[in-house]
Amino acid sequence: MQSSLPIRCAEPQARHTRQARVVWGSRVVTVGGDAPVRVQSMTNTDTADVIGTAVQVKALALAGSELVRITVNTPEAAQAVPHIREQLDRMGVDVPLIGDFHYNGHRLLTDYPACAEALSKYRINPGNVGKADKRDKQFGQMIEAALRWNKPVRIGVNWGSLDQELLASLMDQNSRRSVPWDAKPVMYEALITSALDSAQRARDMGMEPGQIILSCKVSGVQDLISVYGELARRCDYPLHLGLTEAGMGTKGIVASTTALSVLLQQGIGDTIRVSLTPAPGESRTQEVVVAMEILQALGLRTFVPSVTACPGCGRTTSTTFQELTKQIDDFLRAQMPVWRERYPGVEKLKVAVMGCIVNGPGESKHADIGISLPGTGEAPAAPVFIDGEKRLTLRGERIAQEFQQVVENYIEQRFGGARAPETA
Ligand code: SF4
Repeated sequence: MQSSLPIRCAEPQARHTRQARVVWGSRVVTVGGDAPVRVQSMTNTDTADVIGTAVQVKALALAGSELVRITVNTPEAAQAVPHIREQLDRMGVDVPLIGDFHYNGHRLLTDYPACAEALSKYRINPGNVGKADKRDKQFGQMIEAALRWNKPVRIGVNWGSLDQELLASLMDQNSRRSVPWDAKPVMYEALITSALDSAQRARDMGMEPGQIILSCKVSGVQDLISVYGELARRCDYPLHLGLTEAGMGTKGIVASTTALSVLLQQGIGDTIRVSLTPAPGESRTQEVVVAMEILQALGLRTFVPSVTACPGCGRTTSTTFQELTKQIDDFLRAQMPVWRERYPGVEKLKVAVMGCIVNGPGESKHADIGISLPGTGEAPAAPVFIDGEKRLTLRGERIAQEFQQVVENYIEQRFGGARAPETA
C-alpha cells in the first residue's frame, strides 16, 4: 500500500557545537558552530627540513586541506617552525599550521617562543604530557603558552597513548561495581574522561570554551562510533574526527569512510582528518582527497565537479569509457586550484560518463553535461547531453579530446559569466 506521506529525504543532522577560530594573518578558519566541516591533514616530512615540509604543506593546502598539522618533536623542529611559516607566506600559502606535541611540548613551547607564535593551534595529547605530579604542571605550561599567544588547542586523546593512570583508576572503580562493566566501555570512559577533564583544567586556567577542540581517536570503526556518540552527548566543544591508524589503501579508505560517514550523518564532527598510510611513492595528498570525497558524497560540502560513471559491464566495448572517465576526472581536479577563483560555483558541476545506451542517456540527462559511449552492438556514436538535452554526437578516435573541449566550453560559458552554450 502506498504511504500517504512523502518519503523523507535523508540528510545529515544539524550540529550544535561552539565555534573555534584558527587564525593565521588574515586567514580565519572557523571550526564548529555553523561552519562547514573542515578538512585537515598532517605532513610526514621531518619538520626540521624547512623546505621539504613547506613544500608538502603547500601541496596539502592546494589539494584542499584547510588546516595542516606538523609534528614538533625536537628543538630542531621547533626552531624550523617559524622558518616554515615564513617560507609558506613567501609562497602565498596562508593555511594555518597546527603543532603536534608529545612528551616535550611544554618545554618546546616555552623555550621557542617564535615557534609558539608561528603556529595557529596546538595539539596536546593528555596521555603524553608527563606522568604523576609532572602531568598537571606540564599540561599547564602548554595551556599557559596557548593563553600567552592567544592560540586555540586541540586536546587530542588517542587510545594508543591513553593516560594509563586514569585508565587504571577507572578499572579499579569498575571492579568495585556490583556488576562491573566489560573492559571496552571502561576504555571508552577513560578516553572521554581524559578529554573532558583536560578541557576543564584548561578552562580553569582561563581558556575560553571557543578555544578548545576535542578528539578521542581510536582505530576501530565501531569503537569510534561509540566513543564520539557519547563524547558529543556530553559536551558542546567542536570535535576533531578521525579514525586513527586507519591503514593503507582500500582498507584505510573504506574504514575511515565508514566510521566518519556514520558520525557525520548524525551531526558529529566539525573537522576531519583521514589517517591513511601512503603506499610507497603515493602522494600524501591522497588523505585530503579522501576527506573531501567523504564530505562531498554526504552532501555536506562541494569541492570539485562530480563525475558520475557506470562501472562498465559486458556491454562495454572497449577501455575508451574507462579512459575517458579517468581523463575527465583528472582534468577537472587538476584545474580546480585555478577554476575556484575564475569560475565561482564550478565545483557544483555534474558530469556523467556512461558506457552504453541502457542507463547512459538517462544518467547523462540528470547531469549538467553527460556522454553516453556506444556499447556492444550500438552505432559507433556518443551522444552528448547538455542541461538535460541531447545537443551533439561525437564520433571517431578523438571523442575524449572533443568531449573535454565541450566540458571546458560549457564551464567557460556557464561559470565565466556568459550564457549556457547552445551547442559545443
Ligand atoms: S550503463 Fe551500460 S555499460 Fe554501463 S553498467 Fe549499465 S549496462 Fe553496463
